[in-house]
Amino acid sequence: MLAEIAQAGFLISSEPDTADVVVINTCGFIAPAKAESLEAIKHAVDRKCSGDIKKVIVAGCLPQREGQQLFGQVDGIDAVVGLGQRDNIARIIKKTLSCGQPTAYLDRSPQAIHDDRTRLLITPGHWAYLRISEGCNHRCSFCTIPVIRGRFRSKPRELVLAEAAELVSAGAVELIIIAQDSTYYGRDLKIRNGLAGLVSELEKSAGLSWIRLMYLYPAGIDDKLIETIAESEKIVHYLDIPIQHVNNKILKAMHRPDTKDQLRRLIEKLRCAMPDIAMRTTIIVGFPGESDRHFAELLDFVKWAQFDALGCFKFYAESGTVAAQMTGQVPEKVKQQRLQELMLNQQKIAFAKNKNRIGSKLTCLVDSVDSNRLSRGRFYGQAPHIDSLCIIKSRGLPTEKCSAKPGEFINTKVVGTKDYDLLVEQI
Ligand code: SF4
Repeated sequence: MLAEIAQAGFLISSEPDTADVVVINTCGFIAPAKAESLEAIKHAVDRKCSGDIKKVIVAGCLPQREGQQLFGQVDGIDAVVGLGQRDNIARIIKKTLSCGQPTAYLDRSPQAIHDDRTRLLITPGHWAYLRISEGCNHRCSFCTIPVIRGRFRSKPRELVLAEAAELVSAGAVELIIIAQDSTYYGRDLKIRNGLAGLVSELEKSAGLSWIRLMYLYPAGIDDKLIETIAESEKIVHYLDIPIQHVNNKILKAMHRPDTKDQLRRLIEKLRCAMPDIAMRTTIIVGFPGESDRHFAELLDFVKWAQFDALGCFKFYAESGTVAAQMTGQVPEKVKQQRLQELMLNQQKIAFAKNKNRIGSKLTCLVDSVDSNRLSRGRFYGQAPHIDSLCIIKSRGLPTEKCSAKPGEFINTKVVGTKDYDLLVEQI
């Protein structure tokens, strides 16, 4: 959207209050995301009422999910724009500026596969997300995403590679592969080993150093993919594998194909193929029917698996999902207790893992240098924005700052920890 807007000749402001038109790109898959989006919309409408801005346009998943009803939820929205209309955003802005009527630009079922070349990045430039598909063919009983984003459509390989080449030539050294389920890549096009083949091609890019794979559906991780990652020089040994739960009855009710034994074997297999692997996962607590015994089983598994990072969500009964209608809904207080207990256990694991790294040598990618010349970066086991990071200092005096610039790789030694973060010294 940013590239479309800029190419149409509009100036893009990073400060909403100085703009004529505010476009809010929303998330809306669970209640807290929806609440956050609505809050941003209300704030923009308030600015409009006080005369600071002229028009408020709402785009993305929330309009796709709520449709015209959004006009009733916040009075003062000028246009709502569904996912299929993304590439028309500049034309929509022009029309909105000249039109007094609230207007909806919606396709009920988004089928477009977007060409994402010529992007305007809001990430630092030395790393970028590379979306390889749209939509999802799974039907997890708690999830609204297939309804919002439609069926899985792989982006053609040549488009992905062309976009990657553009990003690398613009300075990206790390590409982060994203999709609703990255392992599904190519299956809709009847391509075997689609993700393994794609990342093997990406690896040939000379300027690229790290490829990071996010959102790997556990049942989609096969031997070929493991072998490809294990042997690769550039695919980092970091995998994000959302398991959601481990109790067989809950997994079945979630419409997930895995069993606890299969998840256990997968983790063992990955650790065997890549002893240095860092793993992130996502878990839902308080799914309908989750008893204290089921939760204890989940907790035991998390203690056994020793994930490097873990995101935990409370179950939200989202309208339109199968799980929202299930019996055995868990009280909010119990969900909150379980979330806290799980995260406290994970904190112990993460802190112990950090302590174990003291004295080890890590290659770090420098992400930022602030006004005090304090540098922050990441080793391969840390994804930007969601994981912990490395705080970098030069050897010797604590006041001596690291001289590396964002986007550079440096050799470091871990000298300490600060909560979830690592303190590293350039060597
Ligand atoms: S795989 Fe992910 S996006 Fe797809 S239905 Fe399940 S939770 Fe939703």
